[in-house]
Amino acid sequence: MDNANFQRLFIGGEWVEPRDGGTRGSIDPATGEHWGTVAYGGEADIDVAVASAQAAFEGPWRKLPGWERAALMRKFADLYATKVEELAQIESRDNGRAIRESLGDIGLHAQYYHWFASLADKLSGRTIPIDDSVHAFTSRVPAGVVGMITPWNVPLMAAAWKLGPALAAGCTVVLKPAEQTPASSLALGRIFEEAGFPPGVVNIVPGDGPVAGAHLVAHPGVNKIAFTGEGATAKTILKSGADTLKRFSFELGGKAPHIIFADADVDQALNAATGSAWALCGQSCALGSRVLVERPVYDRVVEEFQRRAKCVRVGMPLDPATHMGPQAHQAQLEKTLNYVEIGKKEGAALLTGGERIASGDFSRGYFVAPTVFADVAPDMRIAQEEIFGPVASIIPFEGEEEAIAIANGTPYGLAAGLWTNDVGRAHRVAARIEAGIVWVNTYRYIRWSTPYGGFKTSGWGRENGLEALDSYLETRTTIVSTTGKFPDPFAS
Ligand code: ADP
Repeated sequence: MDNANFQRLFIGGEWVEPRDGGTRGSIDPATGEHWGTVAYGGEADIDVAVASAQAAFEGPWRKLPGWERAALMRKFADLYATKVEELAQIESRDNGRAIRESLGDIGLHAQYYHWFASLADKLSGRTIPIDDSVHAFTSRVPAGVVGMITPWNVPLMAAAWKLGPALAAGCTVVLKPAEQTPASSLALGRIFEEAGFPPGVVNIVPGDGPVAGAHLVAHPGVNKIAFTGEGATAKTILKSGADTLKRFSFELGGKAPHIIFADADVDQALNAATGSAWALCGQSCALGSRVLVERPVYDRVVEEFQRRAKCVRVGMPLDPATHMGPQAHQAQLEKTLNYVEIGKKEGAALLTGGERIASGDFSRGYFVAPTVFADVAPDMRIAQEEIFGPVASIIPFEGEEEAIAIANGTPYGLAAGLWTNDVGRAHRVAARIEAGIVWVNTYRYIRWSTPYGGFKTSGWGRENGLEALDSYLETRTTIVSTTGKFPDPFAS
């Protein structure tokens, strides 16, 4: 794989020049400079990609038995596993994520594809007993052509979470990665090619959201859109897809509460809470960006957050020693710094960080120091809105009821964590948290088999697990008369 040049789109099993797009320099957020040249497509490219996905769906893919789909997916997964290092390098160049994090994340993806491959030949329906006159049964059939629209923070993970279940279900795909970070998704095309997937089953067309993305959403040849990104974008997408009544799955933002009760093993809780405040430079919807701390351990937690912020090695993404790279693009850097100003004006205590790091090697990159706000009130904007930067907002609370009220007191409901050594409290509190996933005495544990998605404004539907597979299937009910007799309605 040539890491620096992805100058063609992957459509119909071929590497093609963009028809009404072109090429662009892809920016390395650690230097602010172009590191490679990447193809992007426009509406005409989306049209060809959808036509090729439709042809593949009606042609070879639909006819392939599930176990053969599974075999191809396994071959792809095995190849993917051999390319983790390469893929991680590409992704870290493109979005600035520390290579140790990219390796850890991408190193798991082959297992996602394997797990969904194992379901590809098990899509059975049910028989429905009624009476002797009919035989009724259901079949699970693929939803058809799926448009996948993915974000810049975790392009390959977002793709794996969608491609695994979609291919297992028998769908075909047009994948449109985010304009800021398209390179790693194009690299997937080479692996699909090498694995021997029929042409057109997976098509990859980077492009601008409001152009290529919007066209994909509105396209009558696309049956479903699987989207990960911002809530505001999801609302626009809903409107563009309304005319064709698309199926949608949405994985949107979060403002996850990470609750530390005084009876917890506080050192363990701190490992998880600090890790998840600054992982991916704060750019993941599941991170515990609100740290809720019970009063008796509040001072200790605040002090430790400050101390540990100084232990985070901010550095170049490809340096294995780096804990935290830059923000993925300039607009995100500006957004984070703006929220720091908002937090200060709102009266939260900025204890450390909050500034751009621009000395020496960092001068042109989008680096922000790990940031800690304490004494944050639950209704402040920094506690309500998704910042997507390395900013921890620490909020004190007293007792379970207040913890639950604060935890549930945002429009989001994606993820939550709680730390306690009281097993009854763990269950009591977990059962009342409005979030699609609740971690108890752990954090950010996600696997192929564990459903993931949001309550409230954090999304529609679930990725991973059997639920994800369901979202790429339609149920057909077939009712067969055993008599062949149908009464004449007008006989009497
Ligand atoms: P962010 O604002 O953080 O970049 P977005 O939600 O806008 O996040 O981006 C996620 C994905 O949505 C990207 O692939 C982007 O190109 C795409 N996108 C943005 N706007 C639209 C749109 N109007 N229609 C379809 N896709 C879009």
